[in-house]
Amino acid sequence: AVANIGVVGLAVMGSNLARNLASREGNTVAIYNRSREKTDQLLADHPEAQFVPAYSYEEFAASLAKPRTAIIMVKAGAGTDAVIQALTEVFEPGDIIVDGGNALFTDTIRREKAVRETGINFVGAGISGGEEGALTGPSIMPGGPEESWVTLGPILRSIAAVAPDGEPCVTHVGTDGAGHFVKMVHNGIEYADMQLIAEAYDLIRRGTGKTPAEIADIFAEWNTGELESYLIEITAEVLRQVDAATGRPLVDVILDQAGAKGTGAWTVQTALSLGVPVSGIAEATFARSLSSHPEQREAAASLPGPDEDFRVADADAFIEDVRQALFASKIVAYSQGFDEIRAGAAEYGWNIDLGAISKIWRAGCIIRAQFLNRIADAYAETPDLPVLMTAPYFAEALTSGQAAWRRVVVAATQAGIPSPAFSSSLAYYDGIRADRLPAALVQGQRDFFGAHTYKRIDKPGTFHTLWSGDRTEIEAEDTH
Ligand code: NDP
Repeated sequence: AVANIGVVGLAVMGSNLARNLASREGNTVAIYNRSREKTDQLLADHPEAQFVPAYSYEEFAASLAKPRTAIIMVKAGAGTDAVIQALTEVFEPGDIIVDGGNALFTDTIRREKAVRETGINFVGAGISGGEEGALTGPSIMPGGPEESWVTLGPILRSIAAVAPDGEPCVTHVGTDGAGHFVKMVHNGIEYADMQLIAEAYDLIRRGTGKTPAEIADIFAEWNTGELESYLIEITAEVLRQVDAATGRPLVDVILDQAGAKGTGAWTVQTALSLGVPVSGIAEATFARSLSSHPEQREAAASLPGPDEDFRVADADAFIEDVRQALFASKIVAYSQGFDEIRAGAAEYGWNIDLGAISKIWRAGCIIRAQFLNRIADAYAETPDLPVLMTAPYFAEALTSGQAAWRRVVVAATQAGIPSPAFSSSLAYYDGIRADRLPAALVQGQRDFFGAHTYKRIDKPGTFHTLWSGDRTEIEAEDTH
């Protein structure tokens, strides 16, 4: 038993994670893959790495020092269940099984409960950053029992991405499914961020007639300010790319149908169950779905839009408006995402430090950005902040940006340019800050057709109007 950590599953993610582990001082990495070829390939390609190959689960367990610690990186779903089952048969109480795949957090809760019965610790860890992150340093979001963190913490800290202030991008998020929950919301926020950037590009292009290469310069410029982020940076790269075959901007020859692997949908489904309005993430997810129905788009293409062509009078002023609208909408998207984490923590009994979450997203993952420091500051100042966007820094940005935001949404609407993420974020902003909402009328309607009752602003109690009788009001049982 010479290895201090093991990896099961040596496809692209697992082999890169194993190489990352092996490259750190003091690690010897046991490796196992169901089919032998991947193990032999990894050994042949990287003779320099401290690997201990195993060709059976028994051999794998025997090569690990106790408490045995293994990270599973296999196909999410049935593959993960099969490997967990096999490992629980060869591991002992006190050992640690980590699932680093993209599991749904409710699966992780189920697995943690089952594995715990055997005395083995099970940790669901969200790992973000794709294959490059796995190799050079991902952002890692581990859940699972506190005691496993003693062994696992130092190992994960050694391979995680490092934030600009030197802090590794990993923290024990909470028990059982907390890590995978937070990773799921991370991906949802990523969807919203990407959609907002795409809407900004579309508005600038159609409003000013600038070319993708010119818009790349605008994004590069934005990347030096408060919008600075990996996604803004890569957007400039994509827009600058010229297609070798046609000589056209690559963005103009890519089919405009966006794919998805499901984590955005999970984020939205979970938010619906928790009753948290993540409208920016939802619209971003729906925008991808809308784009991917060519038959419907073709059928609807004959429907009319506005008569006049869209061209803004002052291009520079419009671009600055779009920049401010983008920042304001981004604040809303992150505020909504953190609201979902807050609500999830309350529902599932996790003690999640929201500021620590924003810090471990500062490097390694797709939504990495300076902006996340502001979120950490906000929670450091007020840990129980009810709505993130009301923190002073964000409130100021919204105050100075809201007029531009409204102009952009008006312009987009009049021009017939879809901007679902911009406009739904603005609607959320106006809804959450409103003195009175027409929810009062909805309660009246519910009471009318379903006797669902309502509360009054001027006295306690629950009331019902006898709509089909003499329309007097009676005190009622609270039935919602
Ligand atoms: P895949 O998702 O393509 O899975 C392939 C691996 O799973 C192979 O090693 C395969 O073994 C193994 N496997 C499948 N079924 C079983 C089984 N029943 N028993 C044992 N092993 C099995 O690999 P990736 O490297 O792309 O991804 C690994 C995990 O990481 C996934 O959960 C994925 O969702 C996640 N991921 C995360 C990303 C991120 O950015 N965080 C990016 C990409 C993936 P064999 O060689 O024998 O077929």
